[in-house]
Amino acid sequence: LAENMAGVANLFTGQKTITESSVEGALNEVKRALLDADLNLMVTNTLVDAVKSKAVGMKLVDGVTAKQQFVNVMNDELVEIMGAEQAPLARRTDGKPTVILLAGLQGTGKTTAAAKLAKYLQQEEEPKKVLLVAGDVYRPAAIDQLISLGKRIDVEVFSMGQGVDPVEITKAGLERAVEGEFDTVIVDTAGRQVVDDTLMTELKDIQVASEADEVLLVVDAMTGQEAATLASVFNEKIGITGAVLTKMDGDTRGGAALSVQGVSQKPIKFVGIGEKMSEEEAAKLAKKMINAEFDFNDFLKQAKMMKGMGSLGGVANMIPGMAGKITPQQLNQAEEGVQRAEGLIKFMTPEERRTPKLLILDPTSQARCRRIARDAGVKLSAVSAFLKEFQAMQSNMSRMGKQMADGDPNAGPG
Ligand code: GDP
Ligand code: MG
Repeated sequence: LAENMAGVANLFTGQKTITESSVEGALNEVKRALLDADLNLMVTNTLVDAVKSKAVGMKLVDGVTAKQQFVNVMNDELVEIMGAEQAPLARRTDGKPTVILLAGLQGTGKTTAAAKLAKYLQQEEEPKKVLLVAGDVYRPAAIDQLISLGKRIDVEVFSMGQGVDPVEITKAGLERAVEGEFDTVIVDTAGRQVVDDTLMTELKDIQVASEADEVLLVVDAMTGQEAATLASVFNEKIGITGAVLTKMDGDTRGGAALSVQGVSQKPIKFVGIGEKMSEEEAAKLAKKMINAEFDFNDFLKQAKMMKGMGSLGGVANMIPGMAGKITPQQLNQAEEGVQRAEGLIKFMTPEERRTPKLLILDPTSQARCRRIARDAGVKLSAVSAFLKEFQAMQSNMSRMGKQMADGDPNAGPG
């Protein structure tokens, strides 16, 4: 998205006020970029119209370029769609456990999200005592999957095996929660290939029987606009309270996040990243980080992930552990930095990418840096500045890695 928006900036060069014609031109670019990012057409049009009516004729504030001002208006409107604040999960106050129902099609990541959400709630400032309820009685391996995930994060899983009515399971699960003094119950449910009446009726029955406080539709970010359509359908049929967006780490174009919210008017309450909650993966990364083996290839990988969502300001705030810690402005800055860095890394040899030391400590480093600067068309000082940042990042990583290895629960990936 950011790449596609780059051209927008040039349209405002030298302007003192924001004129209709420059806005038209810029918005056409914006529109193309948003649609490319797989944003729903209706949401795109709403956004573009809102930006237009606010931006045209706007007087320029001293010291702010037309481009900056335009981008600010865009940001405000995006935040408006996303909701300025992270929508909190409902919490019951009548002494009964809070019930969160996870619904959705097969394979969207419900079971994985159930465990991630449990882990997240367990690690909140005010840690919750969570019970997972295995309500998917159709897929043979589904119950075992939840039980094994529960073991890993040390969360009790309530199950009654297959062939039992999920409504009965949920009711019995709630009894267990009261008896065991759990304060939160997360019910994992079955999915189908397509939306069908059986699925909807079953969900509705579970919802009613459990007096669910949250009915969250789990949608796969990689399905783009389909995710938004699904959210609308589920909302009409059973009334959802929000959505969980999974697979944000995948090759998603980011539009789903805005579309779900824009089309269904339901907030995204939780974001899932990463296939596994696997400790091995975290341990591997931690080791890499401690040994400062984090190289330019790792940097590019992270950059790619950031680009998928960086422009969507609010999304970052929904990642467990990042909530409220990052502003859209910071994200924009980070994104610009990442773009500059990518521009330089492109001109590094594969060996240099794997071995950052070659550019920092090696006797050949000066000549190498000069070559990169020349090929990338930047000053040598720009390369040096980037390498300094990279070193700072490496040592930050190293510290974080050590914390992760020491088992600091806030430092691990979600
Ligand atoms: P369910 O059928 O909706 O319960 O989906 P599962 O939780 O069983 O997940 C289906 C597949 O998607 C599994 O292979 C998961 O490992 C994978 N998956 C789930 N969440 C994520 C995610 O956030 N990122 C990635 N990359 N894969 C995920
Ligand atoms: Mg499942």
